[in-house]
Amino acid sequence: MKYWNSTLKNMAEYIPGEQPSNPDEYIKLNTNENPFPPSDFVLNTIKNTCNGNLRRYPDPTAEELREQFASENEITPENVFVGNGSDEIFTLIFRAFIEKSDIAALPYPSYPLYDILAEANGIKYEKVNLGADFSYNMENFLNRRYGLVIICNPNNPTGTYCPVDKIKDFLDTYTGLLVVDEAYIDFYGGSSIDLIKKYDNLIVTRSFSKSYSLAGLRVGLAVSSKGIIEGFLKIKDSYNIDMLAIEGAKAALIDKKSFKYNIDMVKNNKEYLEENLKPLGFEIIPSRANFIFVKHKEVPSKELYERLKEKKILVRYFSGNIRSEFMRISVGTMMEIKALCRELNTILGV
Ligand code: PMP
Repeated sequence: MKYWNSTLKNMAEYIPGEQPSNPDEYIKLNTNENPFPPSDFVLNTIKNTCNGNLRRYPDPTAEELREQFASENEITPENVFVGNGSDEIFTLIFRAFIEKSDIAALPYPSYPLYDILAEANGIKYEKVNLGADFSYNMENFLNRRYGLVIICNPNNPTGTYCPVDKIKDFLDTYTGLLVVDEAYIDFYGGSSIDLIKKYDNLIVTRSFSKSYSLAGLRVGLAVSSKGIIEGFLKIKDSYNIDMLAIEGAKAALIDKKSFKYNIDMVKNNKEYLEENLKPLGFEIIPSRANFIFVKHKEVPSKELYERLKEKKILVRYFSGNIRSEFMRISVGTMMEIKALCRELNTILGV
């Protein structure tokens, strides 16, 4: 395309999990969305925000949301930046927090969007492999003087978790910028947010898309030292989060009871899914997220993915080294999980 610049021409494209135009016809276990809807309180708050005030611009820094999150986490609003989903935050990180002459370290297998955004922003990167059991060996990120390191905790697509102690030890040595993507942390806890009080080179990112059931609203947070957050505020778009998103996210933080109920249901369903897959011959990587990374001892994942898709059940299959041996299944409702297990039973002839 004649009008594309060379970066756009040469970069790879992010391929999200399929979003069918008729999602109600599918059992969608492929994009780690929460299977349960936002609470009535959150939905009503968003509906009530649909009024004449929409002619105004939203608060450019979402001050009330920053304050609310800060007070719940014993930090200050100056430590919190609100982004249009955590994906926007990664874009801003590659745009503004690493020099083009530096090299970023990105984990593998992990969230493929990091690589795409690095390329889109002209940042060179190296992939650092997770261990054979998909655990993070933080030492490997010290092999070179990386300007930026991103880890995903718990990791997508494996669900594996890196304990805070290991991250702390790493920060005692590492002088570049460390980003810990905590999009899935709420399900089983173990956040690194407290470390931002001691280390000014740490950014922890959070998402409202998973544990808060608000993927459609697009709200994410960066939690970091005051200086880094000032950088985000300087580089961001003028009004990066809309009024409905701000009010919806504030309501979601208030409605603790629904949040807890939702998390408990997801965890309960995850356990049920694991218990039912094991007897079918699946190896399951221990996960601390709302998805599991599995492979069958005989039937290739690609074949299972395709056979399930024929039956309108979507799970996530990735091509590429190691990843292609597995498939990732998001935790669904009990009905969805039962339908999945029934279908797998038939395919595997158990
Ligand atoms: N980080 C990880 C590891 C993810 O899997 C996702 C969702 N695909 C995101 C971030 C993006 O989250 P958000 O919806 O907040 O942009």
